[in-house]
Amino acid sequence: MIIDLHTHSSVSDGTDRPAELVAKAAREGIDVIALTDHDTFDGLAEAGRAAVEHGVELLGGLEMSTQRRGHSVHLLGYGGRQDDPALVAELARVRAGREDRLTPVLARLAALGMTLSEEQVRHHVGASPSVGRPHVADAMVAAGYVADRTEAFDRFLADGGPAHVPRYATDLVDGLRLLRAAGAVTVVAHPWGRGKEWQLPEEVWPALAAAGLDGVEVDHFDHGPDQRRRLRAIAADNDLLVTGSSDHHGMGKVDHELGRERTDPEVYAEIRRRLDERAGRAAPGSPGR
Ligand code: AMP
Ligand code: FE
Ligand code: FE
Ligand code: ZN
Repeated sequence: MIIDLHTHSSVSDGTDRPAELVAKAAREGIDVIALTDHDTFDGLAEAGRAAVEHGVELLGGLEMSTQRRGHSVHLLGYGGRQDDPALVAELARVRAGREDRLTPVLARLAALGMTLSEEQVRHHVGASPSVGRPHVADAMVAAGYVADRTEAFDRFLADGGPAHVPRYATDLVDGLRLLRAAGAVTVVAHPWGRGKEWQLPEEVWPALAAAGLDGVEVDHFDHGPDQRRRLRAIAADNDLLVTGSSDHHGMGKVDHELGRERTDPEVYAEIRRRLDERAGRAAPGSPGR
């Protein structure tokens, strides 16, 4: 059974429409796919229809942009009440912060000799309700300033880079609480990706677990074997679920093919069980209350 719990569509910075992504998953033999676009649930209705059509199981979710001490942490939220008013309002605030950053980013790029209009960037936004750095990167590629998204980030757009402009993101613990209050299951995405071990060291995990964190994404392209081993130990010590996923972005990221990293079926069953419990549904076969 192939379970991939973290993917992106063109409703954020992936390149496939939600329906295309689900159809592709079906073709590639994926049994369960979670669509987790950045800070929006907008792709889930389309993905849900495609999932029925293609016989793939869809877990609805998102990847929320949070921060701890000013440094970005991506938080996956699965299931729950996606119309929860507090959550909806906070996601709108995050997306607005991403939008507001576009003008200053373009000013920085222009100062670096790379002129781009807002129009040129909007051309790459697809169905996303907010314009992010990957879309700016795509416009830089189209204009011939860089070869690909990776070069755009490595040289200019990555955190701390010459064209990077910080934006609003929810405090990590506030994000956890918002998602949990909406009945979602929460997992920290790629916690140690891109060399950021210092940001979520071993000693912070008990507090995250206490704030309601359910799991940690260990099997991710950005983690090496030693990091995975140590993250598994942290998960065991803090009673956290261990997940794995491709973090697929369509053509937007290489080496992130669907199903490349997977979640254990037993872990997935536990995620479903927690969602049922939080929705007030008794699991099949369990005594009623
Ligand atoms: P934004 O939400 O606009 O700040 O853009 C963040 C997104 O850009 C992330 O979700 C990743 O998909 C992508 N990203 C961030 N850092 C890098 C990087 N160093 N290289 C490639 N992609 C990145
Ligand atoms: Fe992304
Ligand atoms: Fe991420
Ligand atoms: Zn992601």
